[in-house]
Amino acid sequence: MEILRAKEMGFCFGVKRALKIAEETAASAAGPVYTLGPIVHNTEVVTQLQERGVWTKDDLDEIEGGTVIIRAHGVPPEVLEAAHAKGLRVVDGTCPLVIKVQQLARALHAEGYQVVIYGQPQHPEVIGIAGWAGEGAMVVQNLADVATLPRHKKIGVVSQTTKIPADYQAVVGALMGKCQELRAHNTICNATAQRQAAAVETAQQVDVMLVIGEAHSSNSRRLAEVCAQVNPRTYRIAAADELDAAWFVGAEKVGVTAGASTPEATIEQVMAWLKDMVDFSG
Ligand code: SF4
Repeated sequence: MEILRAKEMGFCFGVKRALKIAEETAASAAGPVYTLGPIVHNTEVVTQLQERGVWTKDDLDEIEGGTVIIRAHGVPPEVLEAAHAKGLRVVDGTCPLVIKVQQLARALHAEGYQVVIYGQPQHPEVIGIAGWAGEGAMVVQNLADVATLPRHKKIGVVSQTTKIPADYQAVVGALMGKCQELRAHNTICNATAQRQAAAVETAQQVDVMLVIGEAHSSNSRRLAEVCAQVNPRTYRIAAADELDAAWFVGAEKVGVTAGASTPEATIEQVMAWLKDMVDFSG
C-alpha cells in the first residue's frame, strides 16, 4: 500500500505564530499566563502549553490578574477593552489575516453597508468579526439563511477565513438579489484554500483518504467535507488511536492530510501506524 501526503497540511501560519507568541510569553512573563479559549483546537497542544505555564480560561471572569493571550481567532473589541479595564496585560495573538477581516467589517459598517458575515455564528472567529462590525451585523451559514434576509440598499460581505471558496461565491451570488449595491471581500485564507486544494488533489488519487484533526476544529471538518465529495472513503480522525484496519481492506493507495491545528507529532504518529500496517501486511 502506498501512502501519499498532501502537499500542504498541518499548522498554518496563524497558528504557528500564536503558539510562538504563547511560548515566548510563558518564558518571559512574571505572573500567571492565560489564553482566552484554547490556543488551537487540539488537546495535545493545549496540554503541552499548560506544562509550560499557560492555562486556558474560557472567560475573562475566570482571570484575576497576569497576562491574557488572545488566540489566532481574535475577539470582539469589547473583550480587549474589558481585559484592559481589569488591569490585565494583553498579548494579542490574533492572526494578521483575521485582523484584516475585522478591519474590513468595521470599515463596511462605517461606510453604511449592512454587514453580512458568511460563517458559523458560534465560531469564535465569527463572533470576533461580528463584534468589530458594530451593531446589526448578520451571520449567514448557507443559501437558506440568505433567502431569509430582508432587502438592503447596500450590503457588504466578508467570509470566515476557513470557508470553502465555491460556497462563498454562491452566497455572494445570492446576496446580489438582496440589495442594490454589493461589496464582497474575498477573506478566505490562502492557507485554507491551499490545504483544501492539496487535500482534494490527494483524495482523487487514492482509495482511502485520512483527514487528521479534532472534531471541534472547523477547518479539519471542512477538509473532510471537500475530500468526501471526491472520495467517499474519507475518514476524519483526531489521532492514530482512532484508526481502524478495516477501513483499508483492498486499498492500494492511502492519502493523508491534516487540519491547520494538527501538530506534526500527531501526523507522524498516523504515518507510523500506516507504515506499520504496510509492513505487517507485506
Ligand atoms: S487559517 Fe489562515 S486566517 Fe486562520 S489562523 Fe491560519 S493563517 Fe490565519
